[in-house]
Amino acid sequence: MRVGTDANCLFCKIIAGEVPGDVVHRDDRLVAFRDISPKAPLHVLIAPRDHQPNAAASATADPTIVGELVASAAVIAEREGYGAYNLLFNTGAEAGQTIFHTHLHLLAGGITALPV
Ligand code: C5P
Repeated sequence: MRVGTDANCLFCKIIAGEVPGDVVHRDDRLVAFRDISPKAPLHVLIAPRDHQPNAAASATADPTIVGELVASAAVIAEREGYGAYNLLFNTGAEAGQTIFHTHLHLLAGGITALPV
């Protein structure tokens, strides 16, 4: 599928390598990087390369991508040494979403605050 980008989107810029990010995984479908303001010892954001504003829009545009984000979270958590973890999609500004490029929060090791 064609991968859309938004020239004004911070996460598109991190995915493209135009803005620095602490990337822990990248493939042709998604990029995962450590949250700049971690709310747990492991706090990684997993973002599709294709720019969509939220998880529901990504699921509509590309029906397999949300499952791929979840599967990637499991691989990253295990690699980082965590067998248990939390996953979160903030959807909508009123729910705490601040970056309108789909991203799955992967948190492990003891959440200190919800990332909302
Ligand atoms: O779900 P929400 O949109 O609130 O999450 C955005 C996340 O992006 C925040 O947890 C914030 O710390 C993170 N962030 C980041 N690097 C930036 C800007 C924001 O990791 N440069």
